[in-house]
This record gives sequence, structure tokens and C-alpha cells, in this order.
Amino acid sequence: MIMTRTIEDIREDFPILSRKIKGKDLVYLDNGATTQKPLQVIRAVEEFYRNENSNIHRGVHTLSQEATTKYEKARELTRDFIGAKNSNEIIFTKGTTDSINLLANSFAKQFLKKGDEVIVSAMEHHSNIVPWQMVCEERGANLKVLPINKKGELLIEELESLISPNTKIIAVNHISNTLGTINPIERIISIAHKHNVKVLIDAAQSIAHTPINVQELDVDFLAFSGHKMFAPTGVGVLYGKEELLNELPPYQGGGDMIKEVTFEKTTYNCLPHKFEAGTPNIVGGIGLGEAIKYIRSVGFETIEHQEKELLEYATQELLTIEGLRIIGTAEHKTSVISFVFDDVHPFDVGTIIDQLGIAVRTGHHCTQPLMQFFEIPGTIRASFAFYNTKEEVDKLVNGVNRALRMLR
Ligand code: PLP
Repeated sequence: MIMTRTIEDIREDFPILSRKIKGKDLVYLDNGATTQKPLQVIRAVEEFYRNENSNIHRGVHTLSQEATTKYEKARELTRDFIGAKNSNEIIFTKGTTDSINLLANSFAKQFLKKGDEVIVSAMEHHSNIVPWQMVCEERGANLKVLPINKKGELLIEELESLISPNTKIIAVNHISNTLGTINPIERIISIAHKHNVKVLIDAAQSIAHTPINVQELDVDFLAFSGHKMFAPTGVGVLYGKEELLNELPPYQGGGDMIKEVTFEKTTYNCLPHKFEAGTPNIVGGIGLGEAIKYIRSVGFETIEHQEKELLEYATQELLTIEGLRIIGTAEHKTSVISFVFDDVHPFDVGTIIDQLGIAVRTGHHCTQPLMQFFEIPGTIRASFAFYNTKEEVDKLVNGVNRALRMLR
């Protein structure tokens, strides 16, 4: 395929990638936790605070109107990015966790009663388990779990029998942050809709890696975080179909979400403001808009091509390490590799390779039920972005080998 810019050239957009850590070149392989920020995003944040800072939606003065226009432009960019019908369907939140908490609470109030059911999968991040568990407990509803196999793939053929007339919503991730598994969300949505069950897709790990079109998917709700797609922290999105969001009650009360307030009764604002109480993360939203423009300038074709190469190369090279076992060997995988050793603790490997400038994540990755399933305390996880290189994979492999020589 033809790439318009080389990876070396693209890396120049990310100033942090030329940092030294303990005297060594930074090798940043923790993109699943958060991605680095390109200059385009950093400059937009700086520009806002230097020249444009003002609160939005309520001001008649020029600064406020400019800030409002920019923030709403970011909402429109987000709408277009995920192929939503209407920008009213884009609710800005603090991130995926906030989006799921908003939906779980609001959905439960409207639709969950005693004996109802919510289905999640066995490979969910805690943020797509705990909010549902909490509202199920409150409502006397039941949380059911779609199991997985030892490769880390959903047992999709069991979904239909798990659904009952009491099932109200299925909440699953698109891509597992621990295993890298790409889940068959089209199939899940079509099975769910056959039974009149709603679907939330947690797109935290997919949004920066593969194109998503909510209308083509016909998904009811979608959640993702800005910081995992090159935007600032503290901003994220809950997408919902307009007719469904209109049915849901507000999650939080406060400024901006109201139409009229008296001590007797409050009426609520229209979408999306009904779900956006209080001053939002204005600069975060604007930064998210810039990140979307940036992703588009690189292009998903380049991103997917580069990450596929990295996944293949890293898998092949890591498997040359004695005693290394990959957790998550699904047929459809993205560029996340979790691995373990029977005789060495993940934390020790992570700490030693940090001395070499290599940033990986170790631990349970907020997926404790998955750790219980695989009977392991945690994994070492390397998660790649398109700006990573094969040379960095080599450094990882050398670093892990060095750590093993010290630890064994
Ligand atoms: N869901 C998945 C699959 C994730 O990987 C993460 C974060 O790692 C989250 C949800 C939570 O995202 P955030 O911490 O940005 O709210």
C-alpha cells in the first residue's frame, strides 16, 4: 500500500516520543492505557487557553460565542467520525467510564425492573461490569455473563440461549483491552435486535484503531474515551440513537441540562444538553475535534496496515522468548499482546524494562474476572499504536530477555 508519510515523519508529530527515560530512548508500548498527543492537539489546547478561554452556551459576549462555536464544531466532527445521524446524539462525557455510568443509571431508571437481565461478556473492563452490577443490585435485576474460550474469544453461539424475555440490554466491548480480541459486534447486535434487546458497545479500545459507523452497525449506544484516541484526558463520548436518548431520564442535575426551574418542578433541556449538566471539559472537547482531524489526516488505512504489521512481527518475535505464553490468541486480534511466564511475576519484568526506557503495563488491566478465568495474577501487556516501530519491538524483546536473565 502507498503511505503518504513515513512513520519516522509521523513520529515527529508526537514530541514525547523523542523523550529519554533513564537515559534511554522512550519506547512507549502502553497505548491501550492512553495514547500520546500530537502537536496539533497540544497546540489547540494551548491556543484555547491563550486566546479563546471562556465558558460556553450561556454567554452573549464574543469569547463565549467563539468558544461555543468551537466546542459544537467538535461535536459535529465527532458525529461525522462515527457516522451518527444527528449531532444531538453525541453526548460529551468525561470518558468511557463516565459514559457507561451515565447510560447504566439512566437506562436502569427507565427500563430495568426486578427480575430483568443485563448481559455483559467475560472479557469486559471493570467499567463495563461494575456500573451494570450496581444498577442491577439497586433494581433487583440480574447480571448474566457471556463466556469465552481459552483463546479469548466470545462463545457467541451461546448468546441466543442466554437471552430471555427479561433481557433488556447487552453491553460488550468491541476490542478487549487485555486480550486484543476483536469481537463480532455486528453479529451480537443482530442477535440482540432479533430479540428486541438493546446493545451498548464499549469502543474504548477500537475507536483509534478501526473505522466505526454507528448507523451501519445499527448499534443503540456506543462509548469511548478521547485520551485513547490522541485527545486530552477527561473527555469522552456516549453515542445513543436519538429516539432512545429522548426516552431516557437525565443522569445528573445542574446548569445547562434544564429548560425551566422552579421550586415546584424542573423541565429538562433538549438533547444533547439534557445529559451534560454543568460546565463541561471545553478544551477537552476541542482537543477531541483536533484528534479526529489528525486521525483522518493519517488515515485508517495507514493505521490498520501499520498496526497489523506490528502485531504480526511482535507476536513472532516475543514467541522466541523461552517460557513466554501469550494470553489472548483469538483469530481476530488487534495490536495488543498480553504475555506471562510461569516462573516470573509480570510486575518484576515491567519494573526492570522500565530501566531501559520501555513502558508496558503490568497487572490485571481492570479485568480481574479475566485473570480469574486464566488463573493468572496478571500479564505484561504491550499495546501498540501506528507510531510504534519494529525497532521498538526488538527493544522490547531484548529488554524482556535481559529481565529474565536477571530474574531467573
Ligand atoms: N473499556 C475498555 C475496554 C478500556 O480499555 C478502558 C480503559 O482502559 C475503559 C473501558 C475505561 O476507559 P476510561 O478509563 O478512559 O474511562
